[in-house]
Amino acid sequence: MVNRSAVSARKSSSPRPLPLLSQISPRQFAPGLLVALVAGLLLGCAQTPPVTEYTPAAPPAPAAEFTLQLINPRQETSTTTRDFVNILGRTSPDATVRVGDQAASVFATGIFVRDQVPLQPGENRIAIIARAADGRQLERVVTVTRGVEPIADFKPSGDALAIKVESVEPAHDVGLIRGDVLALGFRGTPGQMAEYRLGHSDWQPLPEVRDLVSDQPSGQYRANFVVPAGADSPGQPIQFRLRRAEFAPGDSSASGPTVVEATSRGQVSFWDEAALRLVRVTDEGAALSFGLHEVRLGGPYRAELPAGTLLRVVGQRGDNYRIQLAPGMDGWVSRRDVDWAAPGTPLPHLAFTSISIYGETAADQVVIPYGAPVPFAVTPTTSPGGRAAIEVDFFGAHHAATWLSHRHTARVVREVTVQQVAADHVRVRVELHSRQLWGYQWAVTNNALRISVRRPPLLAPPPASPLQGLTIALEAGHGGPNNWGARGVSGSLEKDINRMAVDELARQFEAAGARIVQVREGDTNPTLAERVHRAIAANADLFISVHANSAGSERGYLRVSGTSTYYKWPFCRDFSAAIHARLLAHTGLDDFGNVGNFNYYPIRANTWMLSMLVEQAFMSNPADEAKMLDPGFRQQMMRAVVLGTQDWLEQIRAEAGR
Ligand SMILES: [Zn+2]
Repeated sequence: MVNRSAVSARKSSSPRPLPLLSQISPRQFAPGLLVALVAGLLLGCAQTPPVTEYTPAAPPAPAAEFTLQLINPRQETSTTTRDFVNILGRTSPDATVRVGDQAASVFATGIFVRDQVPLQPGENRIAIIARAADGRQLERVVTVTRGVEPIADFKPSGDALAIKVESVEPAHDVGLIRGDVLALGFRGTPGQMAEYRLGHSDWQPLPEVRDLVSDQPSGQYRANFVVPAGADSPGQPIQFRLRRAEFAPGDSSASGPTVVEATSRGQVSFWDEAALRLVRVTDEGAALSFGLHEVRLGGPYRAELPAGTLLRVVGQRGDNYRIQLAPGMDGWVSRRDVDWAAPGTPLPHLAFTSISIYGETAADQVVIPYGAPVPFAVTPTTSPGGRAAIEVDFFGAHHAATWLSHRHTARVVREVTVQQVAADHVRVRVELHSRQLWGYQWAVTNNALRISVRRPPLLAPPPASPLQGLTIALEAGHGGPNNWGARGVSGSLEKDINRMAVDELARQFEAAGARIVQVREGDTNPTLAERVHRAIAANADLFISVHANSAGSERGYLRVSGTSTYYKWPFCRDFSAAIHARLLAHTGLDDFGNVGNFNYYPIRANTWMLSMLVEQAFMSNPADEAKMLDPGFRQQMMRAVVLGTQDWLEQIRAEAGR
């Protein structure tokens, strides 16, 4: 998805790159929250933090005097290798501005912009003229020198022989067993002869990849090494050498060495696959992922593992262990979240004969005996018949269940089935009566995995608004002195824009009869785990997080704009989509999408209710920013969020009534 890069670059314009998103680990969200929730309900005291008086910074007031200030480029003289420059500055909102021979856009914040002013090679003088409504005029001239592109790293000729050190693979330590494939190689002077070897073994040829388009030597030297049977050796690096090809073009005139060497930073060890290597999860909620990816908000989560889970390690890459879940099925955990199990610890195996299903006041309970600490994954999904379902995958388990005891007190759970999906892989499927799941939680207690499936709230009957009596938890993204979020082009802070939006949203929801819980009050900065905890402790029905987006401005300040919504789990999609549709209809903002499988911690971890996130518009776009700072526009935008929520609830209410 094209938009993805802008989404993940979302906070990068902040002077402090969002400490919270990276600091908070999923493990801080413990299944014990369920216990806290029950305790909170019993005491009737959902904890609300003391309110801190906080008035968000007022929108930057236009200067009293008529001024013309440059923000980009900030200096009167600058250099670039691009063939254009984006001009951004500040003046009076009622002024007109010309940049070069064209009019610039001026916004209510006083910010003016003209993107992609073309540059000729060499010196470019660009005149910027602002004219106030009363005829006063100010002029600035910026000089931008366009230089030539830097020369490519390696020219395809017999130039000085070199291996690009940072390109040498493997860059991280790897542990491999028989049949694994190790990709190794480097980038260097094209058209030469490369070789590699492990430790003191013989040198092996390392072929050069030819460029697919030109069929010229690419300077990429690559090989895939397949680990043979019986390999068992401690970590050692891979050595590479690049020798001058005898008949390389330009060879006669070349000088310098005829061979260069390099060593991989990563050490490669071969593991005997017959040995059993077990690690024990030390941190509650350690993440088990499908694969290794450098994703800003975290990789593709498969599960959060309880402390004590035993995992079989079959490989290593950098700081991660490869885990065998079942034959042919792997996952990855961070080395920081586990310890080696004591020698002689047996590989756990799970088999249970009974499952118990019954109802309690707020939720149905599905209790599965969990007598061996095998890894498992709980995932909300949809059944082929369109009903909501929750799947529990156990690895290192076999199907022995013969006693599924379904009590009459269960209201939302329709059927529980057990299936041996593959060797060592058992799936318990909890199917609901309804199409809509309203939330779930799981906890391991007393050798049992207990899944609480939430019952739907009683929606007020028509003609009353279905919002009446519902509890909605709101998060104003970021907060505090060190967590501003993105920074707007005029200097506004995302935490303030979010605060103002959420206060307006709370007012409108309350006017419609809903009860509001703000998980972040004033300008405080609770951890993301604490925000989730507050929403759950209040037993909210819905969770809405409000942020503002930001994108890189290299190609222009007005290039990326629009409003977008986000959810993690499929059962939150329709709710999120309903708000997205109203935002588009009522704000006139560009469409930046309704985005699924989004890993922002609060909407991923908070499965006890429907959770979604609104990225109002772009702080990095002067037009979007001016709108978000306009109280009238804000009111309209939050109205759209309320109407979208109401649309979705009305649809659910109508379906339930049929
Ligand atoms: Zn944000």
